[in-house]
Amino acid sequence: MSGQPPRWYPSTNFHSSQKGGRSLVEAELEASVAWLIGLRWLAGIGVLIVTWSVNAIFKFRISPFPLYLIGAVILLYNIIFYFTEQRFKQTSISVKGYIGLAQWQVGLDWLAMVLLFHYSGGIESPAILFFIFHIIIASIFFKPRTAYGFTIAAILLVWGTVWLEFWGILPHRPIVGFIQEPLYKNIWYVLATLFFFGATGLISAFLATSINQRLRQREEEVMELTESLQRATDRLQALNDGARTISSTLDLTQVLNRLVKNTAEAIQVDACSIRMVDATGQILEEMAAYGLSQVYLNKGPLELEKNPLAREVLSGKVVNIPDTTQTNLLQYPSEAAEEGISSMLSAPLIGKNGPMGILRAYSRETDRFSDDDGTFLSAIAAQGSIAIENALAYQAIETLDATKSQFVRMVTHELRSPVSVMRSLLRTITAGYAGGLNDQQSDILNRAQKRVDALQGLIDDLLDLAAGKVELKSHGEAEAINLEDVIVQVMERFEVIAKEKEITFEWYNQSPGVLISTKATKEGLDRIFNNLVSNAIKYTLPKGKVIVSLERIGDEAYTIIEDTGIGISMEAQSQLFQEFYRAPNAKEIEREGTGLGLAIVKDIVTHIGGRISVKSKLGKGSQFTVILPVLKE
Ligand code: ADP
Repeated sequence: MSGQPPRWYPSTNFHSSQKGGRSLVEAELEASVAWLIGLRWLAGIGVLIVTWSVNAIFKFRISPFPLYLIGAVILLYNIIFYFTEQRFKQTSISVKGYIGLAQWQVGLDWLAMVLLFHYSGGIESPAILFFIFHIIIASIFFKPRTAYGFTIAAILLVWGTVWLEFWGILPHRPIVGFIQEPLYKNIWYVLATLFFFGATGLISAFLATSINQRLRQREEEVMELTESLQRATDRLQALNDGARTISSTLDLTQVLNRLVKNTAEAIQVDACSIRMVDATGQILEEMAAYGLSQVYLNKGPLELEKNPLAREVLSGKVVNIPDTTQTNLLQYPSEAAEEGISSMLSAPLIGKNGPMGILRAYSRETDRFSDDDGTFLSAIAAQGSIAIENALAYQAIETLDATKSQFVRMVTHELRSPVSVMRSLLRTITAGYAGGLNDQQSDILNRAQKRVDALQGLIDDLLDLAAGKVELKSHGEAEAINLEDVIVQVMERFEVIAKEKEITFEWYNQSPGVLISTKATKEGLDRIFNNLVSNAIKYTLPKGKVIVSLERIGDEAYTIIEDTGIGISMEAQSQLFQEFYRAPNAKEIEREGTGLGLAIVKDIVTHIGGRISVKSKLGKGSQFTVILPVLKE
């Protein structure tokens, strides 16, 4: 016994074709068949109990053997149905299979019912009423035609049995003592009972099938609604997921490729493409495609002038071509036919400055796209447009940045050689190789030399910065560099200057014996530590301290450059890494300086995959921490 109350709705699916939600239909069929099997246990046991009690309790006389046999047979075939149903559950059986199973059940029940009717007195049997609920069950389970078929079969079987008994062809099996006078030979009683039985059966079938049909209709509506709700939820989810993956990159090619792939998957079609209007505004360029053959993609340019479909889409409309052979909107109809494209749906990609391109989905089926698909594609296109615009903007900034760096590099490069010639000429004069100088001349030339030296510094920094932007990003000559080696070299370089300023200048390896290497260029790492150590000494007053330390923590190398110098105000700290920024207190003690060093340092550190931070207190000192990823052995 399944324990479930009789449910009306499963029956509807016995009629429904296989359209949509097939697994749902199957599940419900299964439940209905199981319900019927559950009821039959009661029926079989009921027959046995009633037969026993008729004889034992009520003391009517009845030949019990056939009735017990009927009860036992009902239970027996129910066992067979039970196991068949269990097997159906494991192997996925078609809807037809389940309907067949249900028809067998009802058919056998009918037979059992007729036998029960005959052996419990025929026309005198109170069991005749039980036919009605069998008729109702059949009407719930089957299409009206089948239900009426079963009803008429029941009526004919009953009528047949009654007349056969009436004419004495079949022996009459009364329940002795139940009624005083035998009725099975009373023609008026027989006629009236058979007439009312037939009418009640047909009316019951009519009522049950019509109520059931109305319920079925409702249920189909509910199922359709459930399906469309599920579709909408899935699409919302797809839209959400798509948006996340698409906008997780700023690389235009990646954005476009993800967009076509996600769209094809979300709408569940064979192929998808993106075309963008080119600079002339006349051609639609193929930017990304998914699921289309190279032959189709190479078919030729899409010219707006010759392509009414593209013009319509770019005017802001979603256009559905349900059958590509029945339209004159395409520029390449035969190529589309060869590719097997039967229908297509196009939505405009619209940016801030108007239409940018077209997002198109293709299908091998004709009439594949619904209005819902149009709305959905249009939503994807709107989201995609934002991602495309962001990627385009990023691309433009990168190009601009590269052009700017190229320009700076070119200019500074041109300045470098005349400035170094000037420096060596000035050095020649101040060193007295060009003849003696009086004090005034020597003072003026020394000042000129200092300014030219500063100019040289500026040019070097600018070149570094530009080189960093242009080259660091593209070239990949990075190799495993031992950080300790680089730091030792930098320390040696500044030893003399530190000594001159009487600065305590020390370095510690906090992870002795551990190889700490990182993937970078040697020049890059040298520039980082050279700049930081140079600043620490430059911005620390005589007799101060500059301490450098290196430590490996997890998969990262921490290099700390700490000084007891002039410090950096909170306000200055936030602008420190911007190009040309110099804090006011720094300008006071050191007139020369470009404010480019830290910008370069930050650029390189970020490029290597590390990060840099600063802690400082005005007048007390500063601490710069560089964290770089460590190469695993
Ligand atoms: P520059 O040293 O040429 O001015 P940087 O980019 O190297 O340029 O440094 C930018 C500014 O950061 C400096 O002008 C100074 O104000 C501040 N600064 C950097 N390092 C230190 C430090 N160790 N102590 C105090 N201020 C510092």
